[in-house]
Amino acid sequence: MTDIERIDQLREELHVHNYNYYVLNAPVISDLEFDKLMRELQDLEALHPEYYDPNSPSVRVGSDLNKNFTQVEHKYPMLSLGNTYSQAEVTEFYERVSKSLNEEFELCCEMKYDGTSISLTYEDGKLVRAVTRGDGVRGDDVTDNVKTIRSIPLVLHGEGYPKNFEIRGEILMPWNVFEELNRERELREEPLFANPRNAASGTLKSQNSAVVANRKLDAYLYYLLGDNLPHDGHYENLQEAAKWGFKISHISRKARTLQEVFDFINYWDVERKNLPVATDGIVLKVNSLRQQRNLGYTAKSPRWAIAYKFQAERALTKLEKVTYQVGRTGAVTPVANLDPVQLSGTVVRRASLHNADIIASLDLHIGDMVYVEKGGEIIPKITGVEVSARPAGSEKVTFITHCPECGSELVRYEDEAAYYCTNETACPPQIKGKIEHFISRRAMNIEGLGPETVDLFYQEGLIHNIADLYTLQTADICRLERMGEKSAENIIQGIERSKEVPYERVLFALGIRFVGETVAKKVAKAFRSIEALASANLDDLIHVDEIGEKIAGSIIQYFANEKNRILVERLRQSGLKLEADEEDLSGYSDKLKGMSIVISGVFARHSRDEYKALIEKHGGKNVGSISKKTSFILAGDNMGPSKLEKAQQLNIPIKDENEFLAMIEEE
Ligand code: AMP
Ligand code: ZN
Repeated sequence: MTDIERIDQLREELHVHNYNYYVLNAPVISDLEFDKLMRELQDLEALHPEYYDPNSPSVRVGSDLNKNFTQVEHKYPMLSLGNTYSQAEVTEFYERVSKSLNEEFELCCEMKYDGTSISLTYEDGKLVRAVTRGDGVRGDDVTDNVKTIRSIPLVLHGEGYPKNFEIRGEILMPWNVFEELNRERELREEPLFANPRNAASGTLKSQNSAVVANRKLDAYLYYLLGDNLPHDGHYENLQEAAKWGFKISHISRKARTLQEVFDFINYWDVERKNLPVATDGIVLKVNSLRQQRNLGYTAKSPRWAIAYKFQAERALTKLEKVTYQVGRTGAVTPVANLDPVQLSGTVVRRASLHNADIIASLDLHIGDMVYVEKGGEIIPKITGVEVSARPAGSEKVTFITHCPECGSELVRYEDEAAYYCTNETACPPQIKGKIEHFISRRAMNIEGLGPETVDLFYQEGLIHNIADLYTLQTADICRLERMGEKSAENIIQGIERSKEVPYERVLFALGIRFVGETVAKKVAKAFRSIEALASANLDDLIHVDEIGEKIAGSIIQYFANEKNRILVERLRQSGLKLEADEEDLSGYSDKLKGMSIVISGVFARHSRDEYKALIEKHGGKNVGSISKKTSFILAGDNMGPSKLEKAQQLNIPIKDENEFLAMIEEE
């Protein structure tokens, strides 16, 4: 088989695997096999740039090319929907439609997904453009970012789709991805996203599609537009679209009577809490496109649809006191303790207060009557104070100055909202938090162990740090109350199995401040063993892509602490993977070993980040700025004049892309 034939074959196969996994939720190959096929495709495509295809499955991994979005005018304006919170207005809508149409009609009842809307244009079965709603008339062209969303087909299946059509839908960040992202951001002390909607729209506007690819967005498509749609029914068209490879909501139902509509609303108002994505209401649409045309539009919204929004849930209750939680990183979070109050089906006793600034801006006093809300957010929050109800002489809430757990004085770093306890190695919640992070699913994934067990082991003095886990004996555990022999054995087996966890995840599991999952991967790629990492200096570290001084400083500080070095040594003796596996290196060479290479300008044959990857793949290092140590400059068109001057000054050789590709070409 020629390379070109193989590329075609891989593209076709990967499209199908994508669809099985992301739309049908039924993968037929393992993630590992998938990655392998993808890597093979990327490698072949790199060898045959002339065979570039904008809809190849490889575009799904994104690119870090920076570009501002161009604005595109919508073919059909993207209007908003009439909104209501009351069932009485739903009845009015129904009656209005009934009267205008003066014939039988069906309503399609759908979830109102709470993300960010998107318009996709397909031509000849290929995705050609993805545009945000913008101001309704024109939006941003975010095609490259949208291509990284795996549940959006790049190439359609089957047949019968119109030559040209538009499909609209909602781009969403599933709850679990959102929570994980916020955990990561918390670890890196970055501002948290308030809800999945903000996270989805923020991500979609990212200038770096590789970031988008990492964030695992999802999408539901909910409306087809075009001249030659297969059916007159909106619902029926979507069923057809599902056959072409689109992810549609299987919750949608057609209703003929108001009673059916209310049954749908009442059922999903409760049941939506079990959905993997955020929803904020129900959308009702007249199903027949002919009837939709008859009803038409007002200036702002269609007359044939309405959104019924679920109540934004809010309650008024008394603030009893403020307590403080110390997290794994030592960050201190204030928590409002409330007089228990019923809110959206649960009793709320506590609400997050985020940080000292928020407390100050609310001007909180103990005993205040406060408004608590549970919107799209996971943890209820205090959104306001009923100042008129403030008891005379009540005490203003002021942030604590010392750690409630260990008594150390708290510090606040420059540019940061949070206060920290810096007593890392002796503050109990920090110790326990580190162990909990270490065993968590994304880190060492130790089955049978959870936060309560960690707490118990810590209380009983069985473990004081992560290395102690590996010297635990079944007998030690059995001695504890509530622990049977069977569960003790499970725990020990789980710990044993964690020794197979790859190096990059061990790095993440260590819980070095600012080293989240993504950073750990980058670090593991650049420093193939923990010794290499421990002996790296600031300069070595900041030369790694995406690692700035903040992260580098934290890594250096970690290994400068003798307690941590001892810990790592004990982990090594226990047999954990503290270096990268050999097989990770397959397809790699060391043709560029020891070389520092600066990339500059615009290229014809590969993108900048493909060149970056090629440099790393062949053992070189891609660095940002020219210095005496630079081995050569990989220059495309329009290399910056200051770089050119500096290169000439320092006598650094300049190679164009053909020379570079020749250098790394296999003989
Ligand atoms: P609003 O922004 O409140 O005016 O509501 C309109 C928005 O709801 C649309 O722009 C879509 O982004 C979103 N939406 C979510 N689910 C649906 C759905 N099933 N049908 C139509 N729009 C939806
Ligand atoms: Zn402390």
